[in-house]
Amino acid sequence: MQKVGFFRSIHVKFVLIYVMLILLAMQIIGIYFASKLEQTLKTNFTTSIEDRMNLVEFSVREEMMKERSTDDPTPEQSLRTVLLGFASTSEDINEIRVINSRSRILASSVLDNQTMVGQRSMDDLVKKSITSELAQENIRLDQKTRKRIWVLAKPIMVGGEVIGTLYLESNIEKVFTQIDEINEILAVGTAVSLSITIIIGIFIAQTMTRPISDMRRQAQAMAKGNFSRKVHVYGNDELGQLAIAFNHLTNQLQESQSTTESERRKLASVLENMTDGVIATDRKGRVSLINDAALVMLKMTRDIVLNRPISSILGLEQEYAFEDLIQIKDSIALDFSTEQQSYILRANFSITQRETGFVNGLIVVLHDNTEQEKIDMERREFVSNVSHELRTPLTTMRSYLEALADGAWKNEEIAPSFLHVTQTETERMIRLVNDLLKLSRMDSRNYDLNSEWVEFNDFFNSIIDRFEFSKTHEGDFKRLLPSADLFVEIDTDKMTQVIDNIISNALKYSPDGGDIRFGVTMSDHFIKVMVSDDGMGIPQANVKRIFDRFYRADRARSRAMGGTGLGLAIAREMVIAHGGDIWAESEEGKGTTIFFTLPFELQEDGEWD
Ligand code: ATP
Ligand code: MG
Repeated sequence: MQKVGFFRSIHVKFVLIYVMLILLAMQIIGIYFASKLEQTLKTNFTTSIEDRMNLVEFSVREEMMKERSTDDPTPEQSLRTVLLGFASTSEDINEIRVINSRSRILASSVLDNQTMVGQRSMDDLVKKSITSELAQENIRLDQKTRKRIWVLAKPIMVGGEVIGTLYLESNIEKVFTQIDEINEILAVGTAVSLSITIIIGIFIAQTMTRPISDMRRQAQAMAKGNFSRKVHVYGNDELGQLAIAFNHLTNQLQESQSTTESERRKLASVLENMTDGVIATDRKGRVSLINDAALVMLKMTRDIVLNRPISSILGLEQEYAFEDLIQIKDSIALDFSTEQQSYILRANFSITQRETGFVNGLIVVLHDNTEQEKIDMERREFVSNVSHELRTPLTTMRSYLEALADGAWKNEEIAPSFLHVTQTETERMIRLVNDLLKLSRMDSRNYDLNSEWVEFNDFFNSIIDRFEFSKTHEGDFKRLLPSADLFVEIDTDKMTQVIDNIISNALKYSPDGGDIRFGVTMSDHFIKVMVSDDGMGIPQANVKRIFDRFYRADRARSRAMGGTGLGLAIAREMVIAHGGDIWAESEEGKGTTIFFTLPFELQEDGEWD
C-alpha cells in the first residue's frame, strides 16, 4: 500500500486547520479590540483637551471683548498671559494660539514663537473654522519632531458672530504608543496561546489518527492473510465504535475465510481422489482447473493445459467451438486410439451458471471408456461369430437333407454318405455348443476346479502316449522331460483338455508332418510346459490373437479340419484358472511353440528320505 505523504496525513491537516482557526479567531478579536481601543483612547484624549479648551475659550473671549483703558495691558499681552497660564498646566498641549476673525495671530503660548504674533495665519484649518463657524480638527505629522499631533481649530463665537478662533496643537503620539504597546501584548499573547494550542492539537490529532492508522495496519495485515491482529479500542466514541466494528469484521472474515479454505481443501481432495478426470474452464473456455486423473487420461502436464482452450485440449477444435460445447447435452466419445492401442474417453459436459443465466464456465468429466467399448465390440463380434458358426453347419445339413428328401434317400450309394455328413455336422454343432457352454461357465466363474496333486511328468507322458498310439502323423514325438518328480495341484480333466487341444493343434497344423517336441522346465515357483511343431506356423502379427475366441489364422482350412476356433480360448481360461499363463511363439512356414506355466513349489531335497 502507498504510504501517506507527511503533508497529506490527517494528523498534519488536523493540526493545520486547528491552528488556522485559532489564528483567524485571534485576528478578528485583535482587530476589533485594537480599533475599539484606539477609538476610545483618542476620544478620551480629545475630550480631556476639549474640556480644557472650553475654559480657555471663555477667558480668551472675556479678554477679547473687554473694554480697555490705556494703562491696561494690550490685548496681546493679556491673551499671552492667559495662554501661558493654560499651557503650563497642560503638558500634553504643545501650543495654543488665538487668531482673530481676519486670520491674524493675536497670541501664542510658545515663547519662541512670539515673532509670529501680528502675522496672518496660513493654516487651512483656521480659515475653514472661521468660514464654517465650526470646530475643525485633524491629525498630522509635526515637521520638527516628526511626531503625530492633533490639531484643533475652534471658532470663538459671540452672539452668533465669529470673533476669532482658538488654534491648538497637542501631542497625541503617546496615545499611539500606548496602542502599539497593547497590540504588542496582544501579539505575544496570541503567539503563546497558539504554541500551547498547537501542542495540545498535536496530541488531540494523535488520539484520532492513532486508531485510524492502527486500522490501516490491520487492513494491510488482513490483506496478507493475517487475522490474528486486533485493533486496540481507545474509547467509546465513534472511532472506538469503528474499531469494535472493524474487529468484528476481522472475526467474520477469518471465519468465512477458513470455511472457504476448508471447502476448497475438501473439493481439491475430492477432485484429486476421483478416478474420473475433471476439467473446469473460465467463461471464455480456457482451462482453469484440472485434476490429476484428467492429466493422466489426456497424457498431458498441468502447465501445458492451463489457460489453453478446452476444445483444443480434447482434440475437438475442428468440430466444436466453445459455444457448441456449452450446448452439448449428451456425452461424447473422444477417440485417442492409435494403431497399436485403442483408447476411448467419454466426456460429459455441464455448464456453471449465475442466477442471471450468464454462463460462467464449463465442467467436463472424463471417463476412460476403452474397456467398455472393447467389451461392447467383443460382444458384437462374438454374437456374429456364433451365429456364423452355427449357420454354416445348418445350411450344409439343410442342403443334404433337401437332397435326401428329393429322392436321394432311395439311392443306396449316396444316402449313407449324405447321412454321414449331416451326422458329422450335427456333432460339430454339438461340440461348438459344448465349447460355448464351457466358456460361458468360465466367464461367469461358475465352476470349481477339482484339484488333486499329481506328478506332472507321468500325467503329461500318459497324454502324449495316447496321441502316439493313434498316430497317423509322419514324424517323431520327442520328449524333453526332467527326471525329477514334479508335483502340481491341478484339475486333471481340465488340464487334459488343455494339453489335448495344444497337441491336436500341433498335429492338425503340421499337414506335412515333422517332429513334435514336448518339454517341461521348472523354476522356483513355476513349471513351464512346451509343445513345439515344425508345421505351417502363424503370421507374426496374429500370434497373440490365436487365444481369442473364434480366431483362426486360416478360416477355410481350419474349418475343413473341423476346428471351431475356441480350443485355445478355452485352454487359456483354464490355465489362468490354475494360476498360470499361456503364450505362443511362431514363425510362418517353420513351426509353432505353445508355452504354458503352472504354479509349483520346489520341494527341498531329501524331504521324503
Ligand atoms: P478347435 O480347437 O476348437 O477345434 P481350432 O484348432 O481352429 O479349433 P484353436 O485351437 O483355438 O482353434 O486355434 C486357433 C487357431 O490358431 C487355429 O485355427 C490355427 O489357425 C491357429 N493355431 C493353433 N495352433 C497352431 C499350431 N500349432 N500351428 C499353426 N497354427 C496354429
Ligand atoms: Mg484346436
